[in-house]
This record gives sequence, structure tokens and C-alpha cells, in this order.
Amino acid sequence: MYDPLLDKTPGCNVPYPTSYWAGQQQAGPGYPALQHDCTADVVVIGAGYTGLNAARVLAERFSQQVVVLEAHQPGWGCSGRNAGFVLKGSGRLGAVQLTERFGLKTAQACYREYRLAFEQVAALCQQGAIACQAQPPGYYKLAHQPRFLAVFEQQQQLLNQHFGERLQCLSQAELQQEHLADQQACGALLDPDCFGVNPLQLALGYSQLAEQAGATLYGGSPVLGWQQLLGQHRLQTPQGSVTAKKVLIATNGYTPKDFHPLLNGRILPVLSSILVTRPLTEAERKACGFRGQPIVMDTRSLKYYYRLLPDGRLLFGGRGAIQGRHADKPRYTKALLSALQRSFPALAGIAVDYQWSGWVAVSLDDLPHLHQAPKDSRYAGVSYAAGYCGSGLSFSALAGQRLAELAMGQSIPDLPCYRQPLRRFPMARWRRLGQWLYYQWGRWQDQRH
Ligand SMILES: Cc1cc2nc3c(=O)[nH]c(=O)nc-3n(C[C@H](O)[C@H](O)[C@H](O)COP(=O)(O)OP(=O)(O)OC[C@H]3O[C@@H](n4cnc5c(N)ncnc54)[C@H](O)[C@@H]3O)c2cc1C
Repeated sequence: MYDPLLDKTPGCNVPYPTSYWAGQQQAGPGYPALQHDCTADVVVIGAGYTGLNAARVLAERFSQQVVVLEAHQPGWGCSGRNAGFVLKGSGRLGAVQLTERFGLKTAQACYREYRLAFEQVAALCQQGAIACQAQPPGYYKLAHQPRFLAVFEQQQQLLNQHFGERLQCLSQAELQQEHLADQQACGALLDPDCFGVNPLQLALGYSQLAEQAGATLYGGSPVLGWQQLLGQHRLQTPQGSVTAKKVLIATNGYTPKDFHPLLNGRILPVLSSILVTRPLTEAERKACGFRGQPIVMDTRSLKYYYRLLPDGRLLFGGRGAIQGRHADKPRYTKALLSALQRSFPALAGIAVDYQWSGWVAVSLDDLPHLHQAPKDSRYAGVSYAAGYCGSGLSFSALAGQRLAELAMGQSIPDLPCYRQPLRRFPMARWRRLGQWLYYQWGRWQDQRH
């Protein structure tokens, strides 16, 4: 599997992973490769949620001539292979941590931005502008240890009082009798708004919107070379090139090794893995106590997440391998399966129909970042958005818009995630060692009572 920390190119037109989402999709011809030399006002690199939304806004609102270069096909990266949780947040800091780090006012401003992103996706799905199988809302954060119940109460109080939320704390008995009977959960915090979608259909919907707005999309067109001359950037693909004054890098967790100095050493790509079971029988659903189609995440340092899909299958995800070449080793699926069975013993031995992994981009300060190189710098004209830490489905749509606004010289909200560039990891060469150590600590922490 492509490994962004080791490989200098993401490959070219590799098929979508054999995910449940891709299995639901009719294979089409896809977007053609760039086969000539051309110019544009703006080039967007990467056709995930971020790049596609940036392209749409640039074409629609700013009448820019936009070219999107994607190594494979739209949604091939994280955007077409995630779990499809539409949440109000990004990065790894919730409202309580944002408040502790930045104070209440700034935390509220950050949260407003996350909420705006959530509402944009929700509106698109509800209006049916993008048919992506939006499921009924209901997001459960599960306490895997009793001490998290007090944390939930603190979160509920803060969010309901100061952030306009209507969260509900559930005891273990309430959770098990009325919502879902996860045997590992001591209680839950319920957000009644968040919901699940088919992430690949969402990505393909975004690509249609970008195209309809006037952007030109190329698939099978990895950027392999980058030259700068007289304020212009010339991006080389296997069969063509684009020259433009402005370049938006939207490659996020799939950014290849040494791709651009603005990003080198500033992201830790981390594998998240997912399995999807065969459809549950009515008896199994009852035994697991599932009411509705919940989307669920726990409080572990090494989190597990799951959701019941519209056709009754259970999607279950969590930490994957550290290196790309180990991603498909059966022991990682086995580890997920045994976690699933600890939560739902009734599903012991259930068949797994799909398994896949993807690279999320972790930032050093647990925040996503948007950044534009200063006008008088060597990299003038280049901007990026990255580091969503595995929580970017909703935020990326707004991040794309903000990236477009930034590139067009418009002001964007003054928030910590927009104020500073991604910080460089200390001893960046040893990021994987740090990750391994974190996993050891996380395992110990998750078993501690
Ligand atoms: C298993 C998994 C589960 C997740 N679940 C959730 C979830 O439930 N909810 C949530 O909020 N977030 C989730 N995420 C995170 C979420 O999917 C991402 O934050 C989001 O999709 C990022 O979108 P993006 O457009 O920024 O990047 P991506 O979608 O990764 O797009 C980057 C694109 O850049 C392309 N590219 C890279 N290099 C080049 C190059 N040199 N030239 C041209 N193109 C290039 C890649 O091919 C790729 O298509 C999950 C991620 C994973 C992996």
C-alpha cells in the first residue's frame, strides 16, 4: 500500500480500495488524465473533499479558471474511504479542550466554524443536492471506563450552556435498554444531530458540483514535478503540465514524501482501518440492542468507532498498522474483530465482507491548519489545508471554501487553526517511532481504571 512517509509519488490511477463504499458504486470511465500543457488561474492538487470544495468556490464565486489534478480519481484518498460520520468538529480537541487552551471566546468562535461546516454538509444532504444515503441522526460517545461519565457531565454542561448544544448524558442502563447494548460501555453522551453518510457518494457529488461550477477535473494525473519561474508555478504530470500563479495543496494525509517544503515534516500520516460485516440478522440486531442506526465512537486513546449501515451491516473501525506495507496483514482485521466481539458477544465469529485502511493526517498541535505562504516569500501563491486528525468529513467542505477565499485575498475568520501554519514535528524523521511509543502508552492508558 502507498505509504506517504516513504513514497515520493502516490501512484497513478490506482483503482479505489475494495471498500464497502466502492462496492456500492458502479464503475464509470472516470475523469481523463491531463494530456497537454495548459495554463489556469489556480491549480488545485488533490480531489478529496477539500480540493473539490475549493475548486467549486473558486469557479462559482470568483469566476476563476480552475484545474484540479488528482493522482487517481475523486475521493480516492480519505474522502472516499472514511466511516462517513458527519460530526461537529475537526482535529482532536473538543470544546472543553479548546476552552482550556484558548479561552471561552476563541473556543466558541472555533466551534461556530465547525458547526457552520456541519450545517453545510447537512443542508446539502437534506436538500438531496447530493444523494449520499444520509442516515437518521444520533451520535453516541461511549465511556469505556466509569471515570469518563464525569467528563461527559462536564462536556454536556459546557456545550449546552455556552455552545448552543443539546447533548444528553445516558447511564449504562439507559444506553443498553433504549439505544444499544455495547458490553464495553459504562454510559454515553448523545448528540442528537450528527449522522452518517456514504462518504464516496459525497465525494462524487462534490466533484459534480465542482464541474458544474466550471472547474476542470483531471484523474490519473499525479503531480510529479514542480517548477517555479517568474511568479508562476508549473506542475508536471505524467502526460502534461499546468502553469498557474496560484496553487492549492489539498493532498492532506496522502501528501507524498518531500512533496513541498511548506508541508514537509509537518504531518504524521496515520492508518485507520475499517471492517464491514455481513448484514446482521434480526435476532443479532436484537441481541446487540440496536435501536435505529447509531453512529458511535468511544473514549479510548486508541479509539474504536462503529455504525450500523442502511443494509444492516456493522461497520467497525480503529487504529491500523503503522507502516503502509503492513496495512493488509490479517492481524489488524483480527484485532478489530475481537474488539467488535468484546462489545457485542452475540456477533462472535461473524463474517467480514470488506476490510480496508486509509491515511489520516495528524498535526502536532491536534488542530487542522490552513496556511498561505506570505506574498514576499519564496513560495508565494501556494496555500494548503491539512491536519484534520481523522475528523475532516464536515470541516473539509468549509476548509476548501476558506482556502479559496484565502487564495483570492479575502479575509477569513481569525481562528487559531487559520492563524498559524502547521508546526513541524520535532525530530520529524522519527515520527513513526513516536507513533509506536504513543500506541504503547495508549494501550496502557485504555486498560487503566
Ligand atoms: C478509515 C478512515 C475513517 C475516517 N472516518 C471519518 C469520519 O467518519 N468522519 C470524519 O469526519 N472524518 C473521517 N476520516 C477523515 C476524513 O476522511 C478526512 O479528514 C477527509 O476526507 C480529508 O479530505 P481531504 O480532501 O483533505 O483529503 P483526501 O480525501 O485524502 O484527498 C487527498 C487527495 O490528494 C491526492 N493526491 C495526493 N498526492 C497527489 C499528487 N502528488 N498529485 C495529485 N493528487 C495527489 C490523493 O490521491 C487524494 O485523493 C476518516 C479517515 C479514514 C482514513
